[in-house]
Amino acid sequence: MRIVLIGPPGAGKGTQARILADLLSVPAISSGDLFRAEIGRGTEIGDLVRRHTEAGELVPDELTTAVVTRRLGEPDAADGFLLDGFPRTVRQAELLSEALAESGTALDAVIALDMPDEEIVQRLTGRRMCPACGTTVHAVFSPPRVADRCDGCAGPLLRRADDTEETVVRRLTVYGEQTVPLLRWYANRGLLSHVDATGTVPEVFGRMRSALAAVTV
Ligand code: AMP
Repeated sequence: MRIVLIGPPGAGKGTQARILADLLSVPAISSGDLFRAEIGRGTEIGDLVRRHTEAGELVPDELTTAVVTRRLGEPDAADGFLLDGFPRTVRQAELLSEALAESGTALDAVIALDMPDEEIVQRLTGRRMCPACGTTVHAVFSPPRVADRCDGCAGPLLRRADDTEETVVRRLTVYGEQTVPLLRWYANRGLLSHVDATGTVPEVFGRMRSALAAVTV
């Protein structure tokens, strides 16, 4: 299956993507993670994207699509994938649709995770992430067993450079302006399902499975 997960920053896309991808035996591909890896490796692409990500702005469409489609060309994505955080603009969706058509495929479903802005700001400013294994926790709502250490691999937990309150508010504005129009674009193509992203991880996952079952039968 080829699935896209859309949602505001902090709605739990990464967590849900990893669980769903495991269930479907497809790779979860996050454009944000691809960019963070480029920045971490100090590549030319990393240098180009850093100032956009740290300001909470989107990376230009052509560059983003090139990075993601290169990843989609790897063998593990040949029979399906779950995209998390890409596409984020109508232009990216058009480019993705063209790239898939060239390889004779298309998306099966798009899921939008919905969450109110106040909850997002609260979640993101307390979010801590393990750069080694990708585990995320919340400093107040789901603290790790040992302070500042990952429960999964015991590595140090860090706050993402773009999880400050100022940048979170900017990212939400960008989401409203550039990504919300994409929802209509996918709805017009009969691909979109909305899922309430509030509640526990298993509750949200249950809703996602029901939404997928409804559109893929
Ligand atoms: P994320 O981890 O998905 O919140 O992404 C972190 C940052 O990477 C975003 O705030 C953007 O600066 C950049 N980014 C991730 N995905 C995209 C995308 N599809 N288009 C443009 N920029 C992106």
